[in-house]
Amino acid sequence: MPATPAWPPRSAPRLFVSPALATGEQRVIDGPQAHYLARVMRVAPGDAVILCDDVTGEWATRVLAAGKRDVTVEVVERMRPREDVPDFTLCAALLKKPRFDQVLEKATELGVARIRPVITRRCVADALNMDRARTVMTEAAEQCARTALPEIFAPVTLARLLDQWPAEAVLWFADEHGPDDPAVPAAGSVFASHTGPTGVLIGPEGGFDEDERAQVRALPQARPVSLGPRILRAETAAIAATALWMGTTGDWREPPAA
Ligand code: SAH
Repeated sequence: MPATPAWPPRSAPRLFVSPALATGEQRVIDGPQAHYLARVMRVAPGDAVILCDDVTGEWATRVLAAGKRDVTVEVVERMRPREDVPDFTLCAALLKKPRFDQVLEKATELGVARIRPVITRRCVADALNMDRARTVMTEAAEQCARTALPEIFAPVTLARLLDQWPAEAVLWFADEHGPDDPAVPAAGSVFASHTGPTGVLIGPEGGFDEDERAQVRALPQARPVSLGPRILRAETAAIAATALWMGTTGDWREPPAA
């Protein structure tokens, strides 16, 4: 006998909604999400839509009615619980909008728990549109099938970030002078030495100034690391360091043997 075809299909549209979903519920989706479903994806009654609520996880739903302004679905069953997210905070200096958008999008795909935009002396950008940042991250999470949205914080100054840094969390400091300093280890050889809550700090386009480097190094939880012999653009450094941490210490590894 042929196996039951997989339902919902992997290609079904995915959206984050709130509040939390429950089996049997009818949910009305409106606004830009209804436009996306009805006009872009052209869903019709009976079609599958996958919804995530960032609380209980990922749900299969079936379209009951698709109008111009709203789409009504019936919540059928939960497919996956909300994922466990490694406790990793990307602390990235604010960059000009398109480059910071890349950081938000890629960090979401790579699996970070939260992003803390940081304002430093050489930052060219000094503000972040939080609604837009949330939209970029939500779309990235939908696209890569995450069931948890990363948190985004309002930008803080470097001094404040350091002041508020939790005592138990290590802050790996991507120091662009690291490659020239034999005392600074390569990130790939030290990341896995700490498995608890972790952050990585990346500077802006123009790097950190000397005072800032001294301030960061004075924080007991901060540990300078090098990201290799080349000077990376800030967004490349943020994305590369996050991928390296996920691969060595986060959830891209095999689980430890029991
Ligand atoms: N304009 C600066 C470079 C800034 S690169 C200069 O020429 O010195 C932007 C940020 O990316 C840096 O502040 C640092 O946090 C990170 N970064 C880039 N390349 C790095 C490397 N090879 N090692 C460690 N950090 C790096």
